[in-house]
Amino acid sequence: MKSFTYEKATSPAAAAAAASAKPGARFIAGGTNLLDLMKLQIETPAHLIDVNGLALDTIEATPEGGLRIGALVRNTDLAADARVRRDYGLLSRALLAGASGQLRNRATTAGNLLQRTRCSYFYDTNQPCNKRVPGSGCAAIGGFTRLLAVVGTSESCIATNPSDMNVALRALDAVVETVKPDGETRAIPMADFHRLPGDTPHVETALEPGELITAVTLPAPLGGTQIYRKVRDRASYAFALISVAAVVQPDGTGRVAVGGVAHKPWRVEAAEAELPRGAKASAAVLLDGARTTEENAFKLPLVERTLKAVLAEARS
Ligand SMILES: Cc1cc2nc3c(=O)[nH]c(=O)nc-3n(C[C@H](O)[C@H](O)[C@H](O)COP(=O)(O)OP(=O)(O)OC[C@H]3O[C@@H](n4cnc5c(N)ncnc54)[C@H](O)[C@@H]3O)c2cc1C
Ligand code: SF4
Repeated sequence: MKSFTYEKATSPAAAAAAASAKPGARFIAGGTNLLDLMKLQIETPAHLIDVNGLALDTIEATPEGGLRIGALVRNTDLAADARVRRDYGLLSRALLAGASGQLRNRATTAGNLLQRTRCSYFYDTNQPCNKRVPGSGCAAIGGFTRLLAVVGTSESCIATNPSDMNVALRALDAVVETVKPDGETRAIPMADFHRLPGDTPHVETALEPGELITAVTLPAPLGGTQIYRKVRDRASYAFALISVAAVVQPDGTGRVAVGGVAHKPWRVEAAEAELPRGAKASAAVLLDGARTTEENAFKLPLVERTLKAVLAEARS
């Protein structure tokens, strides 16, 4: 690991200001992703700003009837919160499908939002990777692609976003709250928070340099039957091959977001209009324009079959 300096942030605004003032600074929360990347020298921050002491670890009701989740709420606490379990079961289930109990005890809401891809070439510093070293090329294109994206890809990158939580937050239309280095705050809808790779796959979100996430807001409960189904190579402690997050209403209408298929949680509102006609019709719109390889083409029928199973479960 490369040496770095360290400070403990005293307020959200001070943390953001410090991050913009020090070149190569990064925030550290649970450290479950960042420290792994630092040990492999994939990330080499010159300065770490520890945000753990900030009072951003509560879940509060909003005047609009939703919930405001502090950036430092641990994944375990969020999944176990009685209001989340009752009104946003989708989110609780997605969190519990991720990582392990120990990791969830440490992992935070903001850190989970920003976890980096699990593309194996991103982790192999002997391979070209536009996300790790912009302009170096992409070893995954023409390489081993089984786990990689099938929609929203570019000539520069075909990586997926690995988070389970992000898929649920996208289906729930969550909003990410931030503070910028100049103290200005803003609210970024989940739909706009993660980016497609385009020709700048190293720019993964709408965050500006030094911008700190302070909270994630959930709108008022949607009701309906909420299901998160994750398909993976082994029953636990594995990232999703694909996942489906669905909110299905009694009349058959609903919302669907899919994980494991794109650089961001994948939701296509036009596909939701097809839900009452069934999984085949909806998946056709959801995955329209997919670009697959021999190794990852299985993801298209897998999404359709998983969605079919989710809709059947919701009906029953
Ligand atoms: C073995 C293993 C298995 C896993 N399996 C799964 C899985 O199946 N599903 C899944 O979804 N996840 C999985 N994870 C990922 C895990 O959920 C993430 O590592 C975790 O959520 C990251 O949270 P953290 O607080 O530890 O983030 P950190 O490692 O502290 O930070 C991650 C990133 O977020 C930035 N950051 C942190 N807080 C803020 C903030 N407030 N504002 C702005 N930037 C911030 C950091 O600078 C860093 O870039 C797994 C991880 C491991 C190690
Ligand atoms: S798919 Fe993206 S993350 Fe993977 S090697 Fe290519 S550029 Fe890097």
